[in-house]
Formats: sequence, structure tokens, C-alpha cells
Amino acid sequence: TITTSQEAIELENKYGAHNYHPLPVVLTKGEGVYLWDVEGKRYYDFLSAYSAVNQGHCHPRIVNAMIQQAQRLTLTSRAFYNDKLGPYEKFVTEYFGFDMVLPMNTGAEAVETAIKICRKWGYEKKGIAEGKANIIVCEQNFHGRTTTIVSFSSDEGARKNFGPFPGGFIRIPYNDIEALKEALAMDNVAGFLVEPIQGEAGVYVPAEDYLQKAAALCKEKNVLFIADEIQTGIARTGSLLAVCGNCTCEKACEKQGTYAQPDMLILGKAISGGVYPVSAVLANKEIMEVITPGTHGSTFGGNPIAGEVAVSALQVVNDERLAQNARKLGKLFRERMNKMIAKTDLVKLVRGKGLLNAIVINDSSEGSTAWDICLQLAENGLLAKPTHGNIIRFAPPLVMTEEQLHDCCDIIEKTILNF
Ligand code: PLP
Repeated sequence: TITTSQEAIELENKYGAHNYHPLPVVLTKGEGVYLWDVEGKRYYDFLSAYSAVNQGHCHPRIVNAMIQQAQRLTLTSRAFYNDKLGPYEKFVTEYFGFDMVLPMNTGAEAVETAIKICRKWGYEKKGIAEGKANIIVCEQNFHGRTTTIVSFSSDEGARKNFGPFPGGFIRIPYNDIEALKEALAMDNVAGFLVEPIQGEAGVYVPAEDYLQKAAALCKEKNVLFIADEIQTGIARTGSLLAVCGNCTCEKACEKQGTYAQPDMLILGKAISGGVYPVSAVLANKEIMEVITPGTHGSTFGGNPIAGEVAVSALQVVNDERLAQNARKLGKLFRERMNKMIAKTDLVKLVRGKGLLNAIVINDSSEGSTAWDICLQLAENGLLAKPTHGNIIRFAPPLVMTEEQLHDCCDIIEKTILNF
């Protein structure tokens, strides 16, 4: 067993592929907004496992749902029916206001699934000639790490030496309606895949009317508007979804999201509260029906543990009013950060929505200031991680209290002003 951080880090370095560059903190326990390292030091979590742990670490209700189900039945595959998948599918489709769901496990798998559905719809419903369907994507996108998904990334590090790549993607600037119009005027466009806020790119929030206009333009051109809400969804940005269309969750979010109805909605991460890998693609019947037996699948997708975990994770979002809390605390957080920024040249700006926020450090994207600040934040008891060099994302669990948020802002302020 591991007793020191050093031991754990050495093992990972020696035996694990080096596909991440973690902060040197070895965590062993989590509860709500807190994490503990193996030496017993307590931290506030300001990453939430890239927004997967919106409901807080080890939420007892979600963990209990998993334990109960794990003791009864874990996996059947989809070769047979199971008694938890149907109830979960009814629950999740009603929750988000779609006819049907296709259950998968990880975010990237769900994005791949949406791409497949979109293309098949393009051929079979829209009448695009086989092999010609294009999907519009955005510069600086992040949709996952599979070969198809990285093929349309604009991040050189994500793409380099992973080709040859499949074609069929048109990349346009984000938050640029004119660019979208031009791309939509091209032949053979089946879909537009977009993040309502670009999280990994550094929390870029588009213009107030961008998504609504984009959805309307797509509708006009009979092109599927596909929202990747893997990071923005499940109350993170102060509404249940960042693009709130037909979602029936007045109770959860009071319809505070941008009104735009996606044709396909992609969810992952916090749909399980970070307890179990669960992802989903939601769409209405006239789109989802292009998927027939044998055309798509997953051994684990739709397993009974996933269903039980997701239902309880989504109930927690409603019952604990996490969207409302994210909205309220997000405003407070940006207010506090703006006050701090007025006192220093080290931070250029704060941006974000709900509890998905970032500060931009006054350094080049190659500089190490943001990393060094994160090391100091960890020292002071708060865990956050730089994204794209000089940007620090701040995304705590949504179960945080106002008092805890102020405590965190004090830590951030103290760290930055003394840096
Ligand atoms: N799409 C978005 C918007 C994401 O933020 C992420 C993960 O950060 C993904 C897709 C990929 O999800 P996963 O890491 O579960 O494959």
C-alpha cells in the first residue's frame, strides 16, 4: 500500500504511459467539495475531475445506488434486456426532453456515436450521396481523443503523428455566425457539432445570441445542430443545460440556459456524478431511428449500474438545486475575481458562466506562470489546473456553500496577490 505521495508518483511515472502531466498531489479520499492527499492534507477541489463531479465527491445517494445495483447485477450486455435500462431511458429522455437515447460510457464514445448518427441521417434522411457527408466543427474545439475526433482538432499536439485521418469535417471559427452561414451554404452538410462554451480551450463563452442563431440557421438548411454538453451540461453553467430547448426541467434550471433546441444532445461526465463512466446521445425518433440492430453498440453501454447511477445523479441535481446554486455562486465568484484583478497585473481577466470559469494569467501560453500559481494554490489548499498554458480553469463541485466559496476566493486572492 502507498503511504507517501512520492511512492505513488514514482509508480505512475515508471509503469504508466505519460499521457498526462498531473500536479504533484496524490489523492486518496474525497467528500463533497473536499479532497485529501495521502499525507492527510485537505484541499478544495476546483476542477471537479473536469466537471464530472458536479454533485460533489462520493455523493452518498449516488454511491449507494451503485452499491445496491452492483450487488444484484452489473452487466448483461445488450444481447439481452435488463430491468434497469428501460426505466433509465424513460427517465433521461423525459428529463432532457427528447424521444430517445443511445447509451454509451465515455464522452469521446458519445461524440463518435453522434457523428455516426449524423452521417447516417445525412445519407438516409437528407439524401446526401454516400461517402460525401460533411460535419461542421469549430476551431479550438475539444470533443475527445479518438482518431476521428482528433482528426478535426486544431490542436497540433492532439493531432500530430496520429494520422492518416478520415475526412468529412469543415472547421470554422467559433462564435462566428457569418463563418457558419458560409459553411452551411456548401453542399453535403449533415451537421454542426459545437460546444455551447468551449471548456478545454479555456472557457470561451460565445456571444449571447450565437447558439440561438446557429440553431436557427441549421434548421433552415436541414442540418443537425449537435450540442456537445459533456462539460457544460448537468447544471455546471447555472442551468441544467447550457442550451435549454425542450428540456422539461423547470425545476432544475428554471429555463435559464440559452434557448436553442439541439437536434442531438451529447452528455457525459456529471450525468453520473463522476461515480461511473456514463455517457449518452439524445435525439428525437426521426433521427435516432437510423440506428438499427448491428449498426452501433457497446458492451458496457446501457448496463444496469450505469442506469441506476445516472438516475440518482440526475435526481440529486434537481433535489439539491445545483443549477440555481451554480448560478448564484458563479456570479459571486466572478465579482470576487474582478475585485482581485483590479489589484494586480498578474491576472488579465475572468470569464465564464455559472461555476465554469477561468482566469487568464498575464503570460504567454508557453510560460509557466499559471502552472506555478497552481502549485502555490495546491500548497494553500486548493486544486486547480492550467489549460492551454496561461489559463486557469475554476470549476468546483456545485454542492459548494457560499461560505466555502468565499473561503476559496480568499485562498485564490492570497495566492495571487502574494505571488
Ligand atoms: N467533449 C467535451 C466538451 C469535453 O469537455 C470532453 C472532456 O473533457 C469530451 C468531449 C471527452 O470526454 P471523455 O474524456 O469522457 O472521453
